[in-house]
Amino acid sequence: MNSVDDVTGTTPRARVLVVEDEAPLARLVASYLTRDGFDVEVVGDGTVALERARAVPPDVVVLDLGLPGTDGIEVCRALRTFSECYVIMLTARVEELDRLIGLKVGADDYLTKPFSPRELVARVQVMLRRPRRLAGAGPQPPGVDVREIGALRIDLTAREVWVEGRSVDLTRTEFDVLAALVRAPRRAFSREALLTEVWGEGWVGDPHLVDVHLGHVRRKLGDDASAPVFVQTVRGFGYRLGPGR
Ligand code: CA
Repeated sequence: MNSVDDVTGTTPRARVLVVEDEAPLARLVASYLTRDGFDVEVVGDGTVALERARAVPPDVVVLDLGLPGTDGIEVCRALRTFSECYVIMLTARVEELDRLIGLKVGADDYLTKPFSPRELVARVQVMLRRPRRLAGAGPQPPGVDVREIGALRIDLTAREVWVEGRSVDLTRTEFDVLAALVRAPRRAFSREALLTEVWGEGWVGDPHLVDVHLGHVRRKLGDDASAPVFVQTVRGFGYRLGPGR
């Protein structure tokens, strides 16, 4: 769990696809990522981005919301149908961020322009340090670890989730946040504690990202935020799993 792959070390260089039509910004971001040891490709068009992501699967996609042709929302949705890569979405304004969160596109992280390229690089690094437990990505640990909370069933080994026998399709980040709650049922997590569980100590972003991901998880589980059965809001604090009072 604490073994940290160095993306610039002996492991193959992580591949980042930067999708941004503002050429100067794209070049700036690419230069920072390249300097940090990433294998970077830049495209300025959503349709081309999807073609490239199919041809050479990226580990991370840095995706601008406002693109000519296929916009960032459609690109993100399409990516999710064939790729498990991490997605960081770039938005021009905070209002766009609100709209984006409302649209539930399934990005893993968000940055509002203007941002510091250093911060972007830091977020990419933190994402790639997260433990990877993809099916087929290496030997699975022996045994199974299945947790049940009422009608919710979570296989932490296979990374599968069911509600009342119905399989639920979560993104990697959504699963990781839910899994953090499941590993300590009844414990109330602050947003910051959940971020540390999922992203590790290096996290530098907005703690309300947790609200975004748990909002998606609730919707997919069919959990009503006003009377949740699975993911409880602990007011003024954060979240915990399990039935309410
Ligand atoms: Ca743009």
